[in-house]
Amino acid sequence: MAEIRFEAFEDALELLSPEGLAPLRQRIQVRRDPLLGHTGVYNPALQDKARTLFGDIDREALIRLVAESAERCIFCPGRLEATPRYPAALFPEGRLKQGEAVLFPNLYALARHHAVVVVSEAHFLELREFTPQRIGDAMLLMQKFMETVSQQEPDTAYATLNANYLYPAGASLVHPHFQLLMGPRPYAHQARLLEAWREYREREGSAYAADLATTEQRLGERYIGEQGGWHWLAAWAPLGNHEIQAMHASAADFAVLPESEVEALAEGLSRMLRLYEDLGFLSFNFALYSQRGHEAARLFLRLVARQNPAPHYRSDDYFLQKLQQTELILLPPEELASRARRFFG
Ligand SMILES: [Zn+2]
Repeated sequence: MAEIRFEAFEDALELLSPEGLAPLRQRIQVRRDPLLGHTGVYNPALQDKARTLFGDIDREALIRLVAESAERCIFCPGRLEATPRYPAALFPEGRLKQGEAVLFPNLYALARHHAVVVVSEAHFLELREFTPQRIGDAMLLMQKFMETVSQQEPDTAYATLNANYLYPAGASLVHPHFQLLMGPRPYAHQARLLEAWREYREREGSAYAADLATTEQRLGERYIGEQGGWHWLAAWAPLGNHEIQAMHASAADFAVLPESEVEALAEGLSRMLRLYEDLGFLSFNFALYSQRGHEAARLFLRLVARQNPAPHYRSDDYFLQKLQQTELILLPPEELASRARRFFG
């Protein structure tokens, strides 16, 4: 194995404060992702402003939004039956069901296979209500879907398991749901990961994800815990707010992962959503990258918090993130990991 090196550069600046025209010195740290090179910038002076940037969840507005959107929600029990179905050749029953979870095709597909999984019967869930059982049932349905599709269409080697929760995260419906994209070619970010993992393996002779987990475990600063083959950590240079990552020690293809390890992933994800709730967040995105036939690859998950739902909320995705591929670090990843470890016991 090789040791992962975490690069950062520091800079300093001076400005005059509005009050007394006294010189104000600030230091910034720019961190570089060891694999892909995207950057994250941390200015300790912004830490006090974090609350203002993210605001509190507007509970009154949220209750109104949940009630109004429930009236015509197509994912709520009673209306869910009217959603699309799969042709009998793929799934004779038309839809897949397990526990409260129901999987069916997206009417406006963004890949050859684009499945939607409704996670709960409830129209709205607090983050603590994304239980291991609910997430696990939804994940197992996506796995079953992948298994069937990959048998019938061996070229569908690439899949991502995704979530947008609530409007600030890009969801068009409040009702908790995940989305699976599957096809014969990886989309841009997954392709960049695959290429970088392959280059790393050629250079170092080992898998990047395994080396990253080992290095982070040894350093102990951003490492959160291990469960059922999955390593959890806070990202050195996050791609989104409060990014938590999980990587599997050896597997790359979600379709063939043992059930107990799918359940372990669901358990970890549920714990990290409880962490987000503890930090005052409600909206989130995640993506899990799965691929077949890539020796250097591992299953890899990114989880990020998004802006809190409130009328006229500020977007947390502006020029810095969208066009500079640089995330603003408001809580140092080391502190995020330290708070996350409490949820890993
Ligand atoms: Zn609903």
